[in-house]
Amino acid sequence: MTAPTIPRSHPRYRSLMVRSDLAEKMAEGLVVPEGLMAHGRGEAFDYLLGEKTTPEAAKAERAAAAHLLLARHPVLSVNGNVAALAAAEVASLSKSLPRLTVEVNLFHRTPDRARRVADALRQAGVPTVLGEHPTARLRGLASDRAWVDAHGILRADVVVVPLEDGDRAEALVRAGKFVISVDLNPLSRTSQKAQLPIVDELTRALRHIDLGILRMRRWEPSRISTVAQSVEAPEVLSSALRRIRVRLDRLAAPEPRRGSPRRAG
Ligand code: ATP
Ligand code: MG
Repeated sequence: MTAPTIPRSHPRYRSLMVRSDLAEKMAEGLVVPEGLMAHGRGEAFDYLLGEKTTPEAAKAERAAAAHLLLARHPVLSVNGNVAALAAAEVASLSKSLPRLTVEVNLFHRTPDRARRVADALRQAGVPTVLGEHPTARLRGLASDRAWVDAHGILRADVVVVPLEDGDRAEALVRAGKFVISVDLNPLSRTSQKAQLPIVDELTRALRHIDLGILRMRRWEPSRISTVAQSVEAPEVLSSALRRIRVRLDRLAAPEPRRGSPRRAG
């Protein structure tokens, strides 16, 4: 497939480039068609939120960094969209926190796709990738979605699930994991189930978590713990919804009409 030429001057240049990249990666078998639709849903919420990290999301990202620093077995779960959009950010995070296990976790699993996702991560510089040959199953999930690695997600205490499906996020919470989601939709079941929902775009969220880790990694655990405890899930979600409401209210406010008659006096 030949990529369309997108002029740099286009106001949505970045978004169009990402779409074209995802379409190519679908043709290569890294991303599934359903992944393109999930991306579109994310884009819609990014639009509503103003396409930048909100102060509440930044606070949740700092708290996520703190949880990862304090975790004994932190795991980052990666699906096709995450590998396509953010392999470089995943690699950087795994350098900043070498204890972080990176595991391929696919909703639409085939051995070929699992290998492609793992290859994309290795090419970007992730030294070890689990999940190509999963060895255990998560309870309460039917089909191939239940497969996980016994040395990865199964034994994890903290799991980051970017762009995860609600069913699996719920199964991870039931399995006793502390679940940190990255999902632009504050209404998705994943955001609603996670103990720490981050309502932000994936690459922005991963970069901020990375910076938080670099900033806090030499801190005393008690100080890191204060940052970890500083965020409550219900507040994160309601503040994202409030932001959308306030923004839409402002945008929908009628403009003062030009040429309307001046009041006398
Ligand atoms: P749920 O199953 O949790 O109710 P869902 O069915 O709406 O969610 P899924 O396809 O299961 O959606 O998960 C993908 C989620 O990822 C969507 O909620 C979408 O908003 C979000 N998303 C997609 N692309 C991005 C992105 N680049 N950054 C952050 N979030 C994204
Ligand atoms: Mg879903």
